Amino acid sequence: MKKKLLAVLTTVMMAFSLFPSVVSAATAPTVKVDKPDVFTVGQTEEFSISTTGGSKAGTMVKGFSTVTGDTSIAKIEYYETADGKWYELTGDSFGPQSGFPLGDFTSKFRVTFKEAGSVNAKIEIKTTDGKDVLAETTAEFKAVPAPHAHTPVEVKAQEPTCTEDGNIAYWYCADCGEYFSDEALTKEISKEDTVVKAAGHHAVKVEATDPTETDSGNIAYWYCADCGKYFSDAALTKEISRDDTMIPALGQSKENESTDNPKIGDSGMTLWISLAAISALGLVGTIILNKKRRTGK
Ligand SMILES: [Zn+2]
Ligand SMILES: [Zn+2]
Repeated sequence: MKKKLLAVLTTVMMAFSLFPSVVSAATAPTVKVDKPDVFTVGQTEEFSISTTGGSKAGTMVKGFSTVTGDTSIAKIEYYETADGKWYELTGDSFGPQSGFPLGDFTSKFRVTFKEAGSVNAKIEIKTTDGKDVLAETTAEFKAVPAPHAHTPVEVKAQEPTCTEDGNIAYWYCADCGEYFSDEALTKEISKEDTVVKAAGHHAVKVEATDPTETDSGNIAYWYCADCGKYFSDAALTKEISRDDTMIPALGQSKENESTDNPKIGDSGMTLWISLAAISALGLVGTIILNKKRRTGK
């Protein structure tokens, strides 16, 4: 890169030497770079380097450059005014090594970046012995990625449930990982923006009711009409079935007990018979006592 820019400078100066310098007043010579603020990776874009000779016009000079940055530049070309063609700058020695007479000239260049990056160049015009700097400037050559052609995939909207997140309709480009809320891909959003949060249950408490002879009752429970689920706790952590909430009517309960448990009936009968027997004995006892009293008279 450093060599290339040096070669660029040499080319500029060669071009300058082709033209007669304008005799100017006692002003300092200058060098400047005109270029886009930002270059685009993969595109070939022009820039120019200009010098003014000022009071030093005609002085034999050399161009030097100090470059810092990366190796993101793929190619630098110069425009040859002699034949009107672009030539790639190659090699570390280009043009006359003996220098050239300084003058007021502009030379065209173009650069192609192979990747995004930034190169800083310090350009100096020095006397051929390298002792005096007659003019200098710095320039940053910065390149950004070219606009990328998306290959979007449409994702349909999905309603959230009480417990599962849903999403809005969106378009996603797997190549660059970007999300858009419109099919035209003009409104970029984040992945988080696509999420429609689960609403959570909207549970209503149903108070407990006692069963009657004919009507069933229920335990206290919580019901979410949104998803139709039943819970036995206010925190909605214990899901139960609708049947689990119900307490059967008492009438049903007795019938069930008598049929399911006939022994209870038997023991009840036994108790009744016993009581009847005791009563009978009591009656007999009373009669006997009455008879004895009569006999005693
Ligand atoms: Zn993309
Ligand atoms: Zn719910």
